[in-house]
Amino acid sequence: MTYVPYHQPGTITMLAGPCSIEDAEQMEQVASTLATLGLHWIRGGAFKPRTSPYSFQGLGEEGLRLIAESGRRHNLRTLTEVMDTAHIDLVLSYVDALQIGTRNMANFELLKSVSAATATRHAPVLFKRGMAATIDEWLSAAEYLTQGGNPNVMLCERGLRTFETATRFTLDIAAVPVIHKRSLLPICVDVSHPAGQVDLIPSLAKAAIAAGCDSLMIEVHPNPQQAKSDGPQQLTLDAFAALLDELRVIAAAIGKTIV
Ligand code: PEP
Ligand code: MN
Repeated sequence: MTYVPYHQPGTITMLAGPCSIEDAEQMEQVASTLATLGLHWIRGGAFKPRTSPYSFQGLGEEGLRLIAESGRRHNLRTLTEVMDTAHIDLVLSYVDALQIGTRNMANFELLKSVSAATATRHAPVLFKRGMAATIDEWLSAAEYLTQGGNPNVMLCERGLRTFETATRFTLDIAAVPVIHKRSLLPICVDVSHPAGQVDLIPSLAKAAIAAGCDSLMIEVHPNPQQAKSDGPQQLTLDAFAALLDELRVIAAAIGKTIV
């Protein structure tokens, strides 16, 4: 398989999809919408890092099969989180790109193993910032991923744990220009996890584009009220399509297209 990087100059790569992969119908609805909107990627969690062991943990390999199938059917590239060294080869056998979540930013053995597994095939890796990590710590950890030779690593700001409780996490929008100043890696902004609630997402997404992000992550679900995880922050497919129209205007104003 030939891997293509996440990001091409002049574009903002949209990484949309449900928090958790739940069933074939859900993935079909999301994938067909994303493809119709001219987007190239679908995301979704199969192995979920849940705060409570009693919460939905994800469908595991069945979820990988469902996202791979929806991607194939609609010509979308696929992104999912890998949480465990033991799952890397399995996950890579189904999807195009790996996500490392905020809770694993400092799991250096996982990072080393992902680096080794992607050293020759260069599968893109989306590397989220630890929710309590400094930019220095994040950039340093990113070198565990690139040291094997895979240049296709994209950083992802997803909000920090602070004293603020009005949002789920505090989005560090300044991370975007700081990363551009300090690193050659592209930077994604996940606006869903810091927002925690759908009404804040348009503002955060517009701010991320204006700040110069190379990619956006937005969680969407055909029926957020029934979602098995992160329901309050997932946009309906109609709301996402309407927001994308607005975001395309902002992107055009700075000479970029959303793909
Ligand atoms: C996710 O994107 O599904 C996720 C769990 O994100 P984070 O690691 O940022 O909490
Ligand atoms: Mn989520």
